[in-house]
Amino acid sequence: MAVPFNDLFAQYKSIKSEIDDAIDKIIRGSAFIRGESVELFEAEYAAAVDSDHCVSCANGTDALYIAMKSLGIKPGDEVIVPAHSWISTSETVTQAGGRVVFCDTSSETYTLDVSQLERKITNKTVGIIPVHLFGHPADMSAVCEIASRHGLWIIEDCAQAHLATFEGNKVGTFGDMATYSFYPGKNLGAMGDAGAIVTNDASLASYAAKFARHGGLQKGIHEIEGINSRLDGLQAAILRVKLPHLPLWTEQRRLIASRYNQAFRSIEAIGLTEIDERCDPVWHLYVIRSEEREKLQEYLRKKAIETVINYPTALPFLPAYRYLRSDASDFKNAKQHQDQILSLPIFPEMTDEMIDEVIDAVSSFFC
Ligand SMILES: *Cc1c(COP(=O)(O)O)cnc(C)c1O
Repeated sequence: MAVPFNDLFAQYKSIKSEIDDAIDKIIRGSAFIRGESVELFEAEYAAAVDSDHCVSCANGTDALYIAMKSLGIKPGDEVIVPAHSWISTSETVTQAGGRVVFCDTSSETYTLDVSQLERKITNKTVGIIPVHLFGHPADMSAVCEIASRHGLWIIEDCAQAHLATFEGNKVGTFGDMATYSFYPGKNLGAMGDAGAIVTNDASLASYAAKFARHGGLQKGIHEIEGINSRLDGLQAAILRVKLPHLPLWTEQRRLIASRYNQAFRSIEAIGLTEIDERCDPVWHLYVIRSEEREKLQEYLRKKAIETVINYPTALPFLPAYRYLRSDASDFKNAKQHQDQILSLPIFPEMTDEMIDEVIDAVSSFFC
């Protein structure tokens, strides 16, 4: 049986009539930009992630950029980001005028290695962007303690971690601001690009909303120069249909992850995420480590099981960051991860047969 890495069409089929009705309604009302569906989604999403304010925007990358502009980043300001993430986390620091400073990631959870965080702080550091990578929350207790001791802001990159919790609280509620992506393959995905910023600070929220909409919320009045980064009405309507399903979809991901964990725990050659017991991860990706990663991926491919490497080059080693002249010994974990990680299929619509197929295939490779 073929097992795809993800199956967005299966998700659509499971809620087809709801989605079709929502799209139809937007088209009939020509509410393509902003409109009621956007405002309702912002309120519903803020409530879902326990934040006071949600400012929607065009994608998760813009969300990071807008958040940094709202926090008043200035040219030359240094921002600490994890060495292993999607490039949005770091490229937006540069776009906003800041300087990227990488910190290694943890060999247990793939998130910021907080034991190395403090030594990255200089008198130019203004903020930290922890990423809840693969759906596993970063150690927010340590990040918040260090940030507050040094007077730094925190933007949580929650693009892969909708509804994940740390010490019982939702991610995105620890930092000054948090950003989400609703890219189609994310745990909550639109049918195109979409993103949002959440915060409990009303003035940061209103600056972010203004900045994302050409610097003004009233037609013809531009208090500042901004950008055009809007969530469109169709995407908002689709996200509103999907949001109530997210808790169940998240439970499905957790069930699949626990079946994988149980099956793979006894195979010594497989490196598993060591779940921090303060966290309830949401398994955007299920990542294993193997010294024979290439052979394993090829073996699974021959069995029609699709896998992905997220991400094959840690950020400091990308051509885009050659100018930083990073020393590989500073990023030992990220380096090891880029060489060994493999993401196995995990999506809510996976059938029991598909899960068994993946478990049998991975097990037979090692045993
Ligand atoms: C997907 C993602 C983003 C960017 O989101 P887009 O909506 O694709 O712009 C940012 N950070 C991380 C960690 C992501 O996975």
